[in-house]
Amino acid sequence: MATLVCVPIMVDEFAEAEADARQARDLGADLVEYRIDRVFDSFEDDHAVRLIEALVADSPLPCIVTCRPTWEGGEYDGDDSDRISLYERLGLAERPPRYIDVELAALTRSANLRQKVRLAVEHPGQGKGLSTSLVLSMHDFEQRPADLNRRWLAMLGEDAARVHKIAYRVRSVRDNLELLELTREADRPTIALGMGEFGLLSRVLAPKFGGFLTFAALAGGKGTAPGQPTIGELLGLYHFRSISASTKVYGVVGWPVDHSLSPLVHNAGFEAVGHDGVYLPIPVPTGEDEAASDASFKATVLELIEHDGLDLCGLSVTLPHKERLVRLARERGWEIDGDAARIGAANTITVDRENGRVGVANTDAPAAIESLEEAAGSVAGKRVAVVGAGGVARAIAAALVERGAEVVICNRTRSRADALAEVVGAWACDLEELDGRGLTAVVNATSAGMSSGSDRGAMAVPAGVLDRMGDGTVVFETVYSPLVTPLVEAARERGLAVVDGATMFVRQAAAQFRGWTGVPPPLELFDRIVRERLESAS
Ligand code: NAP
Repeated sequence: MATLVCVPIMVDEFAEAEADARQARDLGADLVEYRIDRVFDSFEDDHAVRLIEALVADSPLPCIVTCRPTWEGGEYDGDDSDRISLYERLGLAERPPRYIDVELAALTRSANLRQKVRLAVEHPGQGKGLSTSLVLSMHDFEQRPADLNRRWLAMLGEDAARVHKIAYRVRSVRDNLELLELTREADRPTIALGMGEFGLLSRVLAPKFGGFLTFAALAGGKGTAPGQPTIGELLGLYHFRSISASTKVYGVVGWPVDHSLSPLVHNAGFEAVGHDGVYLPIPVPTGEDEAASDASFKATVLELIEHDGLDLCGLSVTLPHKERLVRLARERGWEIDGDAARIGAANTITVDRENGRVGVANTDAPAAIESLEEAAGSVAGKRVAVVGAGGVARAIAAALVERGAEVVICNRTRSRADALAEVVGAWACDLEELDGRGLTAVVNATSAGMSSGSDRGAMAVPAGVLDRMGDGTVVFETVYSPLVTPLVEAARERGLAVVDGATMFVRQAAAQFRGWTGVPPPLELFDRIVRERLESAS
């Protein structure tokens, strides 16, 4: 059975809840969950009960009714027995809810309550011919429950439960794998979801593991648990309806990754060429402790690759893990391409599951060279200035030297420029000394001009250098957010040829895509998606 998409609706105003349910239906949801925790101070309020009956009866989609108590992360702090009586009444209504959700903890703490719940739902021993089924749930908004196995066994023992739901805050991407395993091994329809910023994997990949449903918020800020994607993201970005047991998994490992453009590009690309794959952000944080950061990156990448049901076939690796990846590849004896080996940093993992081979590559460097050569012609024998001495400067400078360019490196901190020049076989000079004449291109490989952070509005290449550049000199910007940086603007004002950061971004993604799918990447589509997103963000 296909995994359902359920939109949770926190009911405050009934008219608004009805409108939300209609919107959920129009956006493609299969089910809504009415969270009625806030509706009652007391269930003696017959008016409110009748409104709930009407909401359920007129629901545009089949529904789950849930009155979540405060002790399980909800907002209802009334009597347990009262809310179960309400469920009973709803179950006997002419148009009852498809499901009610009751917590395992409520059932195990009182035999009386358990009896009441069993009377309110259909199950083999129930003679009333009810059509409402029980979702038996457990939640932990803080962590993975220490007694997870014991609770899981208790859930399995409750024969009145038609659906099991288990949701807890996951502390890392790896924690999702246990939830996906639970789903895969379950004896009945199961919802197993990770809450919080690391839980997206379990939510989006539910269909791959046979999950019963996943929750999706109507809009940002309208979810009922941390980490719920919106229905637009689930259906539009991740193509949830196309995910099945055979779907290959890809992702971008970084920190932070929530604003990465890569999921947009690769998921659209997979759909365009008919590749059965899904691409997800995979946040792997780093901290002060370098050894702990190394260990966390390594454990995540290895567990994802080695998991037999996940079918992980490729990862993009971005800041701050690119150098870690090369260290890990060397340790594991994976194949490392020439640019990655030379630069000591890589941004791509390709997993050949059939032959048990893993390869890492650096697609940033060839993407930069390709973008530059398209505008400036072959760089062999030409003088190119690289401004910056960080990771991107290193990748571009090394690749330029490798392809025969004469490279001069300038950086705000001169000593770093000297060090980089020595490593890659270039020479260094102060920015003020940089002579625009005789340059084929100047590359901004600093973060100056980025829309986030303190470098917004800054320009690492002095205007004087641009002024002295001859016709045909190319200004190559690596920063892509914003699309039009102060440098791009200044270069255009002077009539210089410009290659912007989106061009390089699209090409590095395209090279990854080609490596993973074996088919030509839809370059124009990638370019359009990236530019539209960046333009709308500016
Ligand atoms: P990084 O390792 O942190 O290096 C940052 C560099 O920027 C350093 O050389 C630093 O100089 C310099 N810098 C920072 N602020 C500056 C300022 N206000 N004025 C002058 N110089 C400044 O960063 P990275 O990994 O190399 O990334 C650099 C940029 O590349 C990123 O910001 C990103 O936008 C871009 N990028 C683009 C793509 C793409 O596909 N288009 C891919 C990856 C990265 P000091 O040494 O003096 O600190």
